[in-house]
Amino acid sequence: MTTQLAQRRLLTEIPGPASRALQERRGDAVAAGVGSVLPVYITSADGGLLTDADGNRLIDLGSGIAVTNVGHNAPAVVDRVRAQAAEFTHTCFMVTPYEGYVRVCEELQALTPGDHAKRSVLFNSGAEAVENAVKIARVATGRQAVVVFDHAYHGRTNLTMALTAKSVPYKHGFGPFAPEVYRVPGSYPYRDGLTGPEAAAAALDRIEKQIGGDQVAAVVIEPIQGEGGFIEPAPGFLPALADWCSRHGVVFVADEVQTGFCRTGDWFASNHENVVPDLIATAKGIAGGLPLAAVTGRAELMDAVPSGGLGGTYGGNPIACAAALGSIETMHAERLDVAARGIADTVLPRLRAIAERTGVIGDLRGRGAMLAAEFVKPGTNEPDAALTGRIAKACHAAGVVVLTCGTYGNVVRLLPPLSLSAELLDEGISVLEQAILAEAGK
Ligand SMILES: *Cc1c(COP(=O)(O)O)cnc(C)c1O
Repeated sequence: MTTQLAQRRLLTEIPGPASRALQERRGDAVAAGVGSVLPVYITSADGGLLTDADGNRLIDLGSGIAVTNVGHNAPAVVDRVRAQAAEFTHTCFMVTPYEGYVRVCEELQALTPGDHAKRSVLFNSGAEAVENAVKIARVATGRQAVVVFDHAYHGRTNLTMALTAKSVPYKHGFGPFAPEVYRVPGSYPYRDGLTGPEAAAAALDRIEKQIGGDQVAAVVIEPIQGEGGFIEPAPGFLPALADWCSRHGVVFVADEVQTGFCRTGDWFASNHENVVPDLIATAKGIAGGLPLAAVTGRAELMDAVPSGGLGGTYGGNPIACAAALGSIETMHAERLDVAARGIADTVLPRLRAIAERTGVIGDLRGRGAMLAAEFVKPGTNEPDAALTGRIAKACHAAGVVVLTCGTYGNVVRLLPPLSLSAELLDEGISVLEQAILAEAGK
């Protein structure tokens, strides 16, 4: 293996002719409902660089939406996947089980917050995990109501569409949605100006008056909201909700699908305020790119569902489990929690300087390697989605993959692989800085 330091490389415009030809073919074969942020067609990826069909190399500041936390081809993941694929690809854990599934559940038991007795069940996607957390909470409590929040994103299946806040594109036209889902205000310090305890009091008052605490099976929340805009609740908000849940026999479900596995500078975002969820849904970063998801939680809740009530043909596929074990091993060995915090320390001061210089960043927020800039019209808090879109496009044209998000479409979010080299991170952020300065007219 050569150890040549790879760099960003633009050989053609982005997307180049080979990618554009594939995009043409795609139009005749792939459903239009699947979008692509940046239609460059990838042929390989290594060290935080995506190589496309035209030979361009792009810096990845998106990690395939917070999935490749350990990089796109971490050796421990690749080796274990290869070895497992050579042994067997599938038996179905519900038919004849295998050790890898059990080992992943043991790891989840050790890594997730709280030292109570826990059990886990494995699935394929984040939506499936969240949906099953609700199933478990309903059986365990004998109640039906589920509380979710403004700006929430929990997935695209029927139940998780109901849990998700934003209509276009996630819900529009796809109804009817599942009943017994109630939405309350969350905590969005930049826009609501409330402290955590104040925001929690408002949400809990709504729950008690409009639903009744004794009717609620579960409160489902992202400890830092993802698609909704990388919204960090004000300190004290999550602990107040968790405390209310424990006093009312309500299952507190943390959706850590995007925030989990070292992304925010700790193994889970719940750790930042010492919140111990009753159930925790994980996916994305868990398995270095292979489809795997989990619900982990209190043994007495998890075991309330009788045998056969949970599962799925592919849930906890042996190759995906092997990838998860390699991914977790890499996070430990490379201290990727510490690396994530280092990314915040590098990026935030630089973007803060740009915010002061341009006046177009209303709020800069995030933890670890889950960082966001919310763009507004200068001197106001009015969202500027058009500027946000132009900045993202300029980054793409320069060979840097950034994603946007937010209820108002005005947030640039950064989710680099936690293993990204300091050089590539520096270069990626420089490109973003230039794009902001140019598009903001500074
Ligand atoms: C991505 C995401 C989901 C859905 O996960 P899928 O694997 O796409 O089904 C659920 N919750 C959160 C917070 C997410 O970011």
